[in-house]
Amino acid sequence: MKERGARVRFAPSPTGYLHIGGARTALYDWLLARKTGGQFILRIEDTDRNRYVPDAVDDIKASLRWLGLDWDEGPDAGGEYGPYFQSERLALYHRYAEELVAADKAYYCFCTPERLAEMREEQEARNQPSGYDRHCRSLTPAEVEKLKAEGTPYVIRFKTPLTGQTRAVDALRGEMVFDHETLDDFVLLKSDGFPTYHLACVIDDHLMKITHVIRGEEWIVSSPRHFLLYQAFGWEPPVFIHLPIFLAPDGKGKLSKRHGATGVREFREKGYLPEALVNFLLLLGWHPAGDQELFTLEEAAEACSVERINVSPVNFSLEKLDWFNGVYIRKLPPEELAERCLPFLQKDGLLPDPCPPEQMSYLIKLIPLVQERIKLLSEISAALSYFLQAEIAPPAKELLIVKKGTAEETAGILKAVTAALESLSDFSETALEEQLRAVAASLNEKPGRVFMPIRVAVSGTTTTPGLFEVLAALGKERVLQRLRQAITVLEE
Ligand code: GLU
Repeated sequence: MKERGARVRFAPSPTGYLHIGGARTALYDWLLARKTGGQFILRIEDTDRNRYVPDAVDDIKASLRWLGLDWDEGPDAGGEYGPYFQSERLALYHRYAEELVAADKAYYCFCTPERLAEMREEQEARNQPSGYDRHCRSLTPAEVEKLKAEGTPYVIRFKTPLTGQTRAVDALRGEMVFDHETLDDFVLLKSDGFPTYHLACVIDDHLMKITHVIRGEEWIVSSPRHFLLYQAFGWEPPVFIHLPIFLAPDGKGKLSKRHGATGVREFREKGYLPEALVNFLLLLGWHPAGDQELFTLEEAAEACSVERINVSPVNFSLEKLDWFNGVYIRKLPPEELAERCLPFLQKDGLLPDPCPPEQMSYLIKLIPLVQERIKLLSEISAALSYFLQAEIAPPAKELLIVKKGTAEETAGILKAVTAALESLSDFSETALEEQLRAVAASLNEKPGRVFMPIRVAVSGTTTTPGLFEVLAALGKERVLQRLRQAITVLEE
């Protein structure tokens, strides 16, 4: 696909927050638009009033922005082909639906919900395929006029040809043939005056001059209806590309809520970086020609080609995502990683909001100590809590006591350490190391037996970054206070 200036739309329905599958679609939309120097359009398909979620649009916009997928036309951006909310385009859909009625390609249907329910029951009882029985397809113009004049509620249905086939083309999968017998006379305009997805989507894709429709595989079933509509209107259909479904990490069935996070917002709250998520989504169903694994959005737009998208279902491997996240965390300069971690630390009450400059500088100093250790931004609080808290809870006695030793013996070691550190004026890593090794030598202890209880005393845990770095970062006052606290625990 070497076109210039592709116009590609992402058309979410605001029936929920942005799903990871939607993010993948938006990413490919964006990439194709950027690669071809075209436009990425955001269109909100808010025609299902029953499933409308009020803050979904805000979530979708915020999530796309967070991922770095900026749109050229759509809500907030404006554009020549707006409005970009389908609920604001109702008059258009009415006009085109009426046009099809006038051309005898669609018809009014006055069937009541009760009649339709009865019809379905009968179909079920007789084991017949479900679908509208075309009861109103043969109403005469006079009958239609009369019912309309009486104010009878109606829908407009498409007059699907009774025989023959429709060929729907997918750029990756080729031609797909659908027998008309398997399609019913689907609704175009609902009785509440809103269009169905099929009608609105086709009209808007045409009027907005969309050249490529990229969407999930679950929409393949809609494509014969869309091709029928293009034909009925006499319009040229865009290129269709259906992306493969995501399989759960265990490879069993579709990815769903029970496998953990599925919303972009959830991944963000868990501490994934947008660049990691984008890179992961990019490589889930697309393989670069070379062996490059890390891509910025711009590099991806350069390298990505729609032809290399894999159509078989893809395994949503969280391990791989975590790996990418770790890689991107390690690549960030400390100042920037500190910025990204700040909201997590604030949420956990470890830093104030707003964060004063001295505390920010302290955070930047701490970052290199843990940068290699965290895979998610949300892990920062656990990794840094003992640095950011003025005091820590007294560690458990069992944790403090040296291997094969007693509480008394450990207290003795920590007392010698305290005395040695009290007299230390230079609290740098090298001075600390020298001093503590000297303490071990003077006690005739292996260094490890001296270092471990210090580590537990100052951090409350047995695994920390390098001890001397930790002590230097904590500073003399807090180290001594925590050593004394540990001694009290050991002597209780
Ligand atoms: N509104 C549909 C959705 O929510 C869009 C499908 C399409 O891209 O045609 O996914």
